[in-house]
Amino acid sequence: MNFEIFKEKTEISAFSASLRNAGKKIAFVPTMGSLHRGHLSLIETAKKYVDDVIVSIFINPIQFAEGEDYEEYPRTIEQDKILLEEFNKQHDGIIKALYTPDATEMFSEDFMTNILVLEYSDILCGKLRPGHFEGVATIVLKLFNQIKPNYAIFGEKDFQQLFIIKKMCEDLDIDIEIIPSPIIREESGLAMSSRNQYLSEEQQEQAAEIFRMLSSLRYQISRSGISTEVLMWGQEYLLENDFTEVEYIEVREEETLFLAEQGELTTKCRIMVAAKLGETRLIDNMLVQNKSIQDHAE
Ligand code: AMP
Repeated sequence: MNFEIFKEKTEISAFSASLRNAGKKIAFVPTMGSLHRGHLSLIETAKKYVDDVIVSIFINPIQFAEGEDYEEYPRTIEQDKILLEEFNKQHDGIIKALYTPDATEMFSEDFMTNILVLEYSDILCGKLRPGHFEGVATIVLKLFNQIKPNYAIFGEKDFQQLFIIKKMCEDLDIDIEIIPSPIIREESGLAMSSRNQYLSEEQQEQAAEIFRMLSSLRYQISRSGISTEVLMWGQEYLLENDFTEVEYIEVREEETLFLAEQGELTTKCRIMVAAKLGETRLIDNMLVQNKSIQDHAE
């Protein structure tokens, strides 16, 4: 094993403290396992900041709402360890520890405290997944307190989550820099996700329509601005391509997550989408800017 593996919070806290005492800066990469290249890319992003990374794998029960896929969520810990080992060999042993607590280590029987996310938890995914972001914020804060990293890396794939965690650190004076990391996609354009395993081969191909829809919306919106028609077009496109439900397609300002106004874009925005293919819920997003700025940036 080329990194330490801990299951207990006292162990990971002590290990992390030993790194800090040796003058090291630590980046933390929290995950729910079933690792893919998207997760590994977060560690690559971490490498720009530090030489020491701690990865966690914990499927957090309190971020799954009633009736969601907590039980079925893929658990591939042995495979995950192999993937991390291989990655570590090729990246100068940057991963120093893997933390895999179980639920009883994280939640005592009389656990009774929760982070309340006052805003932004009732829009987009929060609207459809009650309690989800409170569950995420609570577990992330616990992990932050146990590990006390200097940096934590979060994927732009879960843009609302990234936003809420950043805000939590600002609001609660948590001295950890939150680093965003870009979305990693399959060759087809499908954003990588542990939940893609729920899709059949044929569905995986269909799922890439989300990327095509986003790319087309990006093209249209960067040139002609936002309109009800263009967003309706996106929704119809997915439904015509056998998606069972489109939960939302919205354009939001990147800096504030406010709904962007209709008409020409005045600031950097994200087109955000959640849609179901069969029973599988997929989310994705894409940056969009006014054509003149976008063309300049590319
Ligand atoms: P998860 O294991 O799904 O909870 O994700 C753990 C972290 O990996 C989160 O910060 C996600 O945003 C990030 N992540 C998941 N999939 C991707 C992807 N395709 N590209 C970039 N980051 C990702």
